[in-house]
Amino acid sequence: MSIVDKLNSIRATLPVGVQLVAVSKTRSDEEIMEAYNTGQRIFGENKVQELVRKWESLPKDIEWHFIGHLQSNKVKYIAPFVAMIHAVDSMKILQTINEEAKRAGRSIPCLLQFHVASEESKFGFLPAAVEHLFTLTELNDLSYVVFSGVMGMATFTEDTVVVDREFSLLAELYQKLKFQYFAEDSNFKEISMGMSDDYMLAIGQGSTMVRIGSTIFGERIYNSK
Ligand SMILES: *Cc1c(COP(=O)(O)O)cnc(C)c1O
Repeated sequence: MSIVDKLNSIRATLPVGVQLVAVSKTRSDEEIMEAYNTGQRIFGENKVQELVRKWESLPKDIEWHFIGHLQSNKVKYIAPFVAMIHAVDSMKILQTINEEAKRAGRSIPCLLQFHVASEESKFGFLPAAVEHLFTLTELNDLSYVVFSGVMGMATFTEDTVVVDREFSLLAELYQKLKFQYFAEDSNFKEISMGMSDDYMLAIGQGSTMVRIGSTIFGERIYNSK
């Protein structure tokens, strides 16, 4: 199947209100343009350098989402244009994003990443931290950050019971944060969960944003250079 056909068959399965982030890491400009020409405008990248290069060379109406782990010293390169940062997992990175957004003269939508998987390597706030994530003063000081919701990844397993439980936990954490900090804030509305192998489960648990790469573009071949 072509990229166009694969995109169309994924779109046919997405309920209204669920946004598709086409994960284009490692993909060429030509492959991205194939997806772009079908109307896809949201793309996800996980390396700062690669994202900046693609932003420079591809159409300016693409909404670039940064979905990887972001280091503080690299925020400045993407702050002028990034449409959303998905994997925010510390006060320190929030403060840096706030400063760089201010410097760039804009606000940056961010998702708080939670560690809901059982794997140790994954980043994110711990679910138990949800009750006391920030003080109200901290939140108010971060006025160039648009708190837009949460993001998480499930354990890499074929056990759908485990994956389902982790997505359900993330949805519950979203509800707790919404209630505690963002009840009056209509920007706080996204649950970014679900990738190629598990996005239908994620949608079943209330995902509003799925991040899909290999089902659209084929298996990734990482260049070791
Ligand atoms: C690579 C990646 C995806 C997409 O993964 P696929 O299995 O190719 O769909 C989604 N989210 C994050 C954070 C990723 O790094």
